[in-house]
Amino acid sequence: MSKEDMLVDACEAQVFNVDYLRLYYGKLFPHAEIFKWLSYGNDGKHAACDRSYIGRREFAFTINDAFVRYQSFNSVAELENSVKDKCPLKIDIGPVYSIDPAKRKAYAANRFTPVERELVFDIDMTDYDDVRYCCSGADVCLDCWPLMTIAIKVIDTALRDDFGFSHILWVYSGRRGVHCWVCDGRARRLTDEQRASICDYFRVYRGNENSNKKVSLTGALHPFLVRSYSEVLETFFEQRVLYAQQLFASEARFEKILELIPDEAIAAELRSKWEDNRRSSTSENVNVVRWKQLKSLLQSAKYKGQGIRRTVEEIVFSYTYPRLDMEVSKHMNHLLKAPFCVHPKTGRVCVPIDPDHCEEFDPTAVPTLYTLREELNASRADTENGRDGKVIQFEIARDEEPIKLVMLTNIFGCLASHLKNSSPGSYSRGVNVVVVT
Ligand SMILES: [Zn+2]
Repeated sequence: MSKEDMLVDACEAQVFNVDYLRLYYGKLFPHAEIFKWLSYGNDGKHAACDRSYIGRREFAFTINDAFVRYQSFNSVAELENSVKDKCPLKIDIGPVYSIDPAKRKAYAANRFTPVERELVFDIDMTDYDDVRYCCSGADVCLDCWPLMTIAIKVIDTALRDDFGFSHILWVYSGRRGVHCWVCDGRARRLTDEQRASICDYFRVYRGNENSNKKVSLTGALHPFLVRSYSEVLETFFEQRVLYAQQLFASEARFEKILELIPDEAIAAELRSKWEDNRRSSTSENVNVVRWKQLKSLLQSAKYKGQGIRRTVEEIVFSYTYPRLDMEVSKHMNHLLKAPFCVHPKTGRVCVPIDPDHCEEFDPTAVPTLYTLREELNASRADTENGRDGKVIQFEIARDEEPIKLVMLTNIFGCLASHLKNSSPGSYSRGVNVVVVT
């Protein structure tokens, strides 16, 4: 193939291409790490291990238009061969069942039940469309991505500090959101009822589609909400969201915020102030000025009622608090896309996100099938000279250090190793769930 042909070829399929996907599954996809992770130490060597464990896990492949469920693999070679052979557009991971899901028809229906599943969370930017103005639907940009950063920080802290979980994997969904996998043995064995209680713990949106006010904070705030507000939400709202989303920049936008104020006299006072100063003489950002005015009026001695003083917090919660797709978390048998899959619409790899450095994560700089293929080609010469062909460098951002997909795979492999050491055993049933009311 001539150089020009290769160039044309590359331009036509910059986003997604089955040939690139085949190359990716062949050379880069971390089959062994995925298998090790899902084995949780039950992969052979020690006496306490359950050899049937991994073979009872459901995998589902999307192949062309077909969604092929209930596949199982007993070894990394079986998994790897099947993935390379079928080249699925998407790989989903389901629960561990009482019996091998591929052989479920050989048993009575009531013997086939899910027995374990990571506690998972799915946070999708489309659920934030009423509080972002930069994009909508499936699009994300660096102005709205901080909403995901907030979600990771709030949920991750609560899972660790309030629930005592420690093996938590965050993964970019490849397009518009993030997935969270809580892998501790105690989390994997939660019943559907306990999962629902954990969802309730995170729920602050009490409104319905028809009510403007989605967040209503009454009584003494649960310590989890107090901490989320003071450690994450308030700062992100004032330093990022306010500017990035220009929350007070137009009448339509500030009216949406005024609707959240329960006292019409206060709303009217602010409205008249903002309608009048069409061209403010101050050089300060209009969003900052108006937010300060709103805060000082609501918190002034003039308005003592607790309902009014809570309004500032309610506005911040409305615009920043994580919005979880609860249905995904509540049921053990919900499928979720595997880490390191490639999103067919964006071509981006579903890479892990380090929660301790989630502010630095840039979804627009995540490697794509196309960039990985370029790097693979570029490294081919090196490989021929004896270097490891798996060490693929890509630019995470123009100004930053180049990092390696292998490094991300290592973060993931590290989690798998920790899990291996912590499991099996260390199983305690039940979790203390405090439901916020
Ligand atoms: Zn955006």
